[in-house]
Amino acid sequence: MTTSGFDLRPNAHPTDAALRETILENPGFGRHFSDHMAHIRWTVDAGWHGHEVRPYGPLTLDPAAAVLHYAQEIFEGIKAYRHADGSVWTFRPEKNAERFRASARRLALPELSDEDFIGSLRALLAQDNAWVPTPASAAEESSLYLRPFMIASETFLGVRPSHEVDYYVIASPAAAYFKGGVDPVSIWLSSHYKRAAPGGTGYAKCGGNYAASLAAQKEAEAHGCAQVAFLDAAENKWIEELGGMNLFFVFKDGRIVTPKLTGTILEGVTRDSILELAKDQGLTPEERHISIDEWRAGAASGEITEVFACGTAAVITPVGELRSEDENIRLKADSGGEVGKRLRKELLDLQYGRSEDTRNWLTRLA
Ligand SMILES: *Cc1c(COP(=O)(O)O)cnc(C)c1O
Repeated sequence: MTTSGFDLRPNAHPTDAALRETILENPGFGRHFSDHMAHIRWTVDAGWHGHEVRPYGPLTLDPAAAVLHYAQEIFEGIKAYRHADGSVWTFRPEKNAERFRASARRLALPELSDEDFIGSLRALLAQDNAWVPTPASAAEESSLYLRPFMIASETFLGVRPSHEVDYYVIASPAAAYFKGGVDPVSIWLSSHYKRAAPGGTGYAKCGGNYAASLAAQKEAEAHGCAQVAFLDAAENKWIEELGGMNLFFVFKDGRIVTPKLTGTILEGVTRDSILELAKDQGLTPEERHISIDEWRAGAASGEITEVFACGTAAVITPVGELRSEDENIRLKADSGGEVGKRLRKELLDLQYGRSEDTRNWLTRLA
């Protein structure tokens, strides 16, 4: 038994320590995985049971497993950060646990408690602590990216919520998400693809949303853009978010605006944290509708001085320009991304334990 009641089946063939160190020096993103994974099983009769940490490796799924056909699946993304004293921490995990339950309800999956969610991260880290990179300097953003996910594993082709579900956490060492670091990225405005619609699954973190965004992502890449910005499905007018990141607009007068949550936008933990941190910096956060026309006009007049995207994986990434079939929107008064850089530093200093955690946002994992 490990901590929090997870049975341990140790990996008999863990990655060689020298190879692990080589991987940690240059991990990229999502390419390498640690030696173990956490697992909890759920059945309609027994509920959650069988908590275990077992060797990382392929799953055995029946070809008729429901998830493979009807995409009944949700996931989370959260990081483990190594502090200077060697301890390992994560950032606001209760928010991810709460969102995971909201996603579960929308996808008709069973809800997992905070205790099991955070317990599974701890149980995994107890085995794979050595996979958390030690940042060489404050400029280096290496961490261990944790990916909890839940799948409908019942062998059944009928369409109804699965009676068998498996929850796993895998871990992948990560360097900065975008190769360009904090250089501004170009964003593609999809003119016909939509990510989410009222009543749909936009607020849930589910694989289906990502599957639906890939054709738009391909279009973006064909136009030399790193990501896609989506407008709302009902009016094709309001800015929602990127495929996997929320958006912020910084105004000349100190307002910092992010699209309001209406059910079609994913409620990012980074987004919420920035709304809090912005107040300390004398900025005025606003959650409201912001239209593509306001972006265009604000960029042209100089009212908008910065646009950035945010999320756990990439933290804060400045948006250099918005491209579409018929226009390029660039900021007339580009401030050099000063506000985003300040917020980014403040977030990272907190996460890596370099500043005081006055809001109790950190939870120790190992
Ligand atoms: C995960 C995600 C985000 C960012 O959320 P964080 O909690 O900040 O990592 C934003 N948009 C989408 C669609 C996402 O899936």
